[in-house]
Amino acid sequence: MSKLAIHGGPKAVQTPPGDMFKWPIITEEDEQAALEVLRAGKMSGTDVTVQFEKEFAQWHGMDYALAHNTGTAALHTAMFGCRVGVGDEIIAPSLTYWASALPALSLGATIVFAEVDPDTMCIDPRDIEHRITKRTKAIVPVHYCGHPCDMDPIMEVANRHGVKVIEDVSHAHGALYKGRLVGTIGHAGAMSCMSGKSLAIGEGGMLVTNDREIYQRAVAFGHYERTRRDVEDPELAPLAGLPLGGVKYRMHQISSAVGRVQLKYYEGRMAVIQRAMNYFWDLLEGVPGVKAHRPSRPSGSTMGGWYAAHGLYRPEELGGLSIQKFAEAVRAEGGVCSPGANLALHLHPVLNEADVYGHGRPTRIAHTEGDVRQGPGSLPVTEAMQERVYSIPWFKHYRPEVIEEHAAAYRKVAEHAEELK
Ligand SMILES: *Cc1c(COP(=O)(O)O)cnc(C)c1O
Repeated sequence: MSKLAIHGGPKAVQTPPGDMFKWPIITEEDEQAALEVLRAGKMSGTDVTVQFEKEFAQWHGMDYALAHNTGTAALHTAMFGCRVGVGDEIIAPSLTYWASALPALSLGATIVFAEVDPDTMCIDPRDIEHRITKRTKAIVPVHYCGHPCDMDPIMEVANRHGVKVIEDVSHAHGALYKGRLVGTIGHAGAMSCMSGKSLAIGEGGMLVTNDREIYQRAVAFGHYERTRRDVEDPELAPLAGLPLGGVKYRMHQISSAVGRVQLKYYEGRMAVIQRAMNYFWDLLEGVPGVKAHRPSRPSGSTMGGWYAAHGLYRPEELGGLSIQKFAEAVRAEGGVCSPGANLALHLHPVLNEADVYGHGRPTRIAHTEGDVRQGPGSLPVTEAMQERVYSIPWFKHYRPEVIEEHAAAYRKVAEHAEELK
């Protein structure tokens, strides 16, 4: 193979990207849907949203879908729905976007972080049970970068301890775990649908559940205009009219309208992405140092829309070459490769030092008996992830010649690793 581009050789990727990475795909149908809401002056209504919720619930085969203005809001109401409150604990992975966990703090609860599995990048089911205490109310598995969590053992542990499971589906809309849609396996599924995600509708979030109590509590917390209609629970109904959380979480109807169109085409577009991404990894099968981040096939599990596509790095197979040098060389080839993923939450000052609400001590331990903070070295697998994963091209179209060029960039760098040290 020719000389590395970083050393003056020809680039492996020659084809300009065009719309290969452009997302979401917006057509006249989306534009029309948005315009209709604008022209009717219905931006703040709920009629389009209720329609969107119906279709979303149907897609998941769930009783309830409740639209929110962000995914963060959906996670917040899901936690309240599961009765996460003062002095309680949730268990979440530390390798995730902050919204998977931080809303718990505003409910007076705290967060206990669990390890991730180095191959799935998802919460390690073997690292959950010993972290459960009498205060644990919920586990929040995150289907990270599209990869479904190993839900069977998570549900087994949770059910045995009477703990609720809130799936964070923000990275994995439409992904399957052993043939089942993620978000439908736990007690509730909460997800972001903001424009960067694979189901991209604007700003928005969705809560799905079959549990009427969770649904009603979520409505009562942040959807004041629905409380009189949707809440008949004897504990909550007398409070109808004002949101218990003091927050307003209604979805903007331009998002709902665009969401209805995006949803209509989502499974088809997702299938194209899966074909493209699987082809990329098939081409790299057996290349030293790089390993696919996807479930083994056939297992009935899929990567959904492959949000924030990542790969696994195994420097020990490349004589210890640093991921920074590896990634730099791939980028010089015209390829896509950035080291790392979300920074570990458990090391951030908000989770260690910040006194957000004026308790006179860090919010993380404002209501706990002992100190649940987790310092450097407490989650070694999670902390090592920055050196062992990297972003890969997130193809939105199946164009074999282009995908082959991108795979060639990785192969070329891996095969010339010696020259980079
Ligand atoms: C994006 C994201 C969220 C939050 O969604 P927003 O719509 O941005 O509020 C929650 N969890 C994860 C894992 C995310 O990536």
